[in-house]
Amino acid sequence: MRAHRYDGRGIDRSAWGRGGSGVDIAGMDPVVVAEVERETSELLSRLIQIDTSNPPGDETRVAEFMAAWFAERGLHGEIVGERPERSSFVLRLEGGRPGPSLLLLAHEDVVPANAADWQVPPFSGLIKEGYVWGRGAVDIKNLVAAHAVATARVAASGAGFAGTLVYACTADEEEGSVGGARWLVKHRPDLLRTDYVINEGGGHFLERGGRRVYFLESGEKGTAQFRVTVRGEAGHASVPLRHGNAVVAAARVVEALATHELPVVIDGSSEELVRLLVDSPALRGRLRDPATAREALIELARRDVQVADMIEPLYGFAFSPTIVSSNSAAVNVYPTVVQISVDCRMLAGHKEHEVLSEVRAALDGVEADWDLEWIGSVVRGNASPYPTPLAEAIRRTLERHIPGAELANSHSAGFTDSNWFRAAYPDTVAYNFAPHLVEGYDEVAPRYHNVDERILIRDLAFQALFAERLALELLR
Ligand SMILES: [Zn+2]
Repeated sequence: MRAHRYDGRGIDRSAWGRGGSGVDIAGMDPVVVAEVERETSELLSRLIQIDTSNPPGDETRVAEFMAAWFAERGLHGEIVGERPERSSFVLRLEGGRPGPSLLLLAHEDVVPANAADWQVPPFSGLIKEGYVWGRGAVDIKNLVAAHAVATARVAASGAGFAGTLVYACTADEEEGSVGGARWLVKHRPDLLRTDYVINEGGGHFLERGGRRVYFLESGEKGTAQFRVTVRGEAGHASVPLRHGNAVVAAARVVEALATHELPVVIDGSSEELVRLLVDSPALRGRLRDPATAREALIELARRDVQVADMIEPLYGFAFSPTIVSSNSAAVNVYPTVVQISVDCRMLAGHKEHEVLSEVRAALDGVEADWDLEWIGSVVRGNASPYPTPLAEAIRRTLERHIPGAELANSHSAGFTDSNWFRAAYPDTVAYNFAPHLVEGYDEVAPRYHNVDERILIRDLAFQALFAERLALELLR
């Protein structure tokens, strides 16, 4: 095991206990909150200083750091992985009596950062103005830290719990999870298989009409990205081709895909968002009817673009052309091939043949010689049941510490490692939920994969305290 030494540069200790906000946490002792702010912010700062930009990741340094952090507290886990430099860390705590098992999950890697664009060095872990700054501060080294502090507090409290509490920080989420969670669920079910999983993704809130609504993500969309190859006739561009210019045909294909009216799917993933966040009963009704939903969405976007943006991906798949390229090496030569890459995300429960038949419908009658191939592997979306004892424990814990807060079941438009757990272990309930206390969705969401990523220390501490209280609530 390698030793990690940090000089603590950049840590403004006066920030501890203030958390950058005056927001109290109901039912929690301010002395405890201050202590958890100190512990979580120091740990997150140090984790950010370990640069795990993926590629290449090199997450083993985080796995070793967390193993040492827990060992200092008398807790011992396992460093595991497919490749020595891309390891994960897993720790299991057994309760004093039989009961359910809960996994607190987060990933070790981060997306790269271009330091020149940032106000602070992205791997400094600087603590200032009540925030911890740096790559990974909200995606998702905050949870690597918060879940660790929660786990250590459960172990140290002596309160006793039932069942099993598992902590895991895993490699390679951002690039495809080849050696991370996807590999672990297959090869180490003895370590990772639990009744319940809490992972990154949900836990943001919006405030509308006097209500504060938290998003619990019980499922997520899959990806079916594809490439359409359009063929044409070669020739010298000084001779206008009336027919068979692949670029012109490709333009028709792009236009047809982008304007095709895709079927609207109304399932449980948008239902609660509409009920809790749209104030007009008439508009709510139209948003729930597949025949009127798209038009109603345009009206909703005029009133509240944020809520509309949240609901739209849950209406089914969409075709988003992102790359167009041709095989012409010169401006005076007609290409024989133009390729259009299209991003496409499927709702949980839907399959790639449905995507294919909609592409055929969109391009029916379009003058173009085309064929389609999938880009990489198709990953189907999936979802856990809702409600469940985990959802009820989340609701009770949330209401206790944020009186009046409401929970909305939703699905993620993106992708997280929860997908691998649901696919490998059909009985496991995996939810994405790590609540913020002070800063809402509109403030936090733009920081993902962006410059000046940072988290309010009070929110970071709340995520740790919430995970601790949730574990004790569920594992009773
Ligand atoms: Zn993430």
